[in-house]
Amino acid sequence: VIEKIREAGEEKVVFSFEFFPPKTEDAVDNLFERMERMVAHNPAFCDITWGAGGSTADLTLDIANRMQNMICVESMMHLTCTNMPVEKIDHALQTIKVNGLQNVLALRGDPPKGQDKFVQIQGGFACALDLVKHIRAQYGDYFGITVAGYPEAHPDAIGENGLATLEAYHKDLVYLKQKVDAGADVIITQLFYDTDIYLKFVNDCRQIGITCPIVPGIMPINNYKGFIRMTGFCKTKIPTEIMAALEPIKDNEEAVKAYGIHLGTEMCKKILAHGIKTVHLYTLNMEKSALAILMNLGLIEETKISRSLPWRRPTNVFRV
Ligand code: FAD
Repeated sequence: VIEKIREAGEEKVVFSFEFFPPKTEDAVDNLFERMERMVAHNPAFCDITWGAGGSTADLTLDIANRMQNMICVESMMHLTCTNMPVEKIDHALQTIKVNGLQNVLALRGDPPKGQDKFVQIQGGFACALDLVKHIRAQYGDYFGITVAGYPEAHPDAIGENGLATLEAYHKDLVYLKQKVDAGADVIITQLFYDTDIYLKFVNDCRQIGITCPIVPGIMPINNYKGFIRMTGFCKTKIPTEIMAALEPIKDNEEAVKAYGIHLGTEMCKKILAHGIKTVHLYTLNMEKSALAILMNLGLIEETKISRSLPWRRPTNVFRV
């Protein structure tokens, strides 16, 4: 992944898609059909998440391998430390290595369902930094390692008022630098809806000497309830103008989707205008909004996209 970003240089914008392991076999089949259509647009890479607490370990491994070898796209597998003794972590890493994958998103992970705090298991790692160090120690330079970055600080550091203290924010930055110094070569950010916060975060990272790409994680709004749930879980700041635009259309799914495409496009435009050359789309396994945003940005061709996409419908039902 880092090589692909470097090869693209200053001129070309690199985009990528994140997927998660679906719950049923039919849904897995549908996902592969969708992936095939999306990969036709030449993303630099695609990644697949690791269910909280290792709940999707086998399926994630299987999907990662099929993405790399059947869909033939540069693939990255997420791997978390939660509930993972070192042997299981090595089993996962060796499995993807044998199958030709070279990219890992190294994470601590969230607590499994029913638990509200991350607990280090015996013989396991305490944080993503431990996992990065382990991968570099055991596998040398074989893997490209990506880590998570939090423009608004990690949710654990965010207080009741929805903000991290300056001290907690800086502690988080210093810790992020430790992950990079230990061998991570790319950062992908947590979702955000205030682009100024992302741009400040990039600047703050540069100030403390983090030089690797800091890829913005963009999650198009697909439906109102999902958006509120996800931003609540991640403690993401929602700018007032976004809430004001969504409130009158929240029960109209098509209008919300169209607004999500409009907003995602504008966010990316602003980020790209500041010299960032990467866009990572949290697709939630859906193709239309992600592709519509890329098309609006002129990064993919319209001809390859189905004519029934929502941005073709009148979009003046929302206010911006
Ligand atoms: P860490 O980098 O270990 O940090 C966690 C927190 O602890 C931070 O606040 C950090 O500052 C603090 N901390 C840890 N160690 C130290 C230390 N030594 N010194 C100081 N501070 C420390 N979750 C999943 O379950 N599966 C996924 O596939 C998944 N994919 C994700 C992809 C992205 C791009 C992002 C942003 C998040 C993803 N998550 C995923 C969520 C992630 O697992 C949670 O946010 C988790 O709570 C933290 O993981 P981390 O790797 O950021 O943790």
